[in-house]
Amino acid sequence: MQELEERIARDGTVKPGNVLKVDAFLNHQCDVALFDHMGAAWAEHFAGKRVDKILTIEASGIGIACMAARHFGNVPVVFAKKAQSINLDGDQYATTVYSFTKQKEFPVIVSKKYLNAGDHVLLIDDFLANGKAMQGLIELCRKAGAVIEGIGIAVEKGFQDGGKLLRDEGYDVDSLAIVDAMDPETGSITFRR
Ligand code: 5GP
Repeated sequence: MQELEERIARDGTVKPGNVLKVDAFLNHQCDVALFDHMGAAWAEHFAGKRVDKILTIEASGIGIACMAARHFGNVPVVFAKKAQSINLDGDQYATTVYSFTKQKEFPVIVSKKYLNAGDHVLLIDDFLANGKAMQGLIELCRKAGAVIEGIGIAVEKGFQDGGKLLRDEGYDVDSLAIVDAMDPETGSITFRR
């Protein structure tokens, strides 16, 4: 998506440790017009698929998922919560995810009330790196018996293997920008063509 690539090139900064900072429009300050266009792009890609619900993970997935939902008939958006401790009273699906940016494991939970067997779900997140966050959401869907229709990603870091792993597993992954290389020294960012 050209608009997103241009925005990343203009406002993104490359940090050591393969981290792309896009706080100016995605992870701290939110450009809702851009989010709206991103939602439209996913709706075009996933046109014809049955999407009953969008599942994302807090916090940065929420804004883009909510704007995307407007393009999928205002379906509900459910965000998996990153819990410090899991309430094991049986009314939640839970798994653990290794955080790329925080470099530690954390539990993610979703209430059984909001993710149901037979739900057709679109997964959305801001970044795809090694795919751990997505694998966590996939695991929650598996536990719930929900059907995954596709995966919408804002920025995929193509030099990490999450995208390849998910596509090899057969998931329809639509990444709006794929970064193939980035250099913290020069700040240069190379997009996949
Ligand atoms: P993964 O689980 O695929 O390894 O990493 C994806 C998750 O880590 C996303 O939910 C995102 O919050 C975070 N993340 C991974 N790489 C980056 C990055 O380069 N920049 C930012 N801002 N977040 C990232």
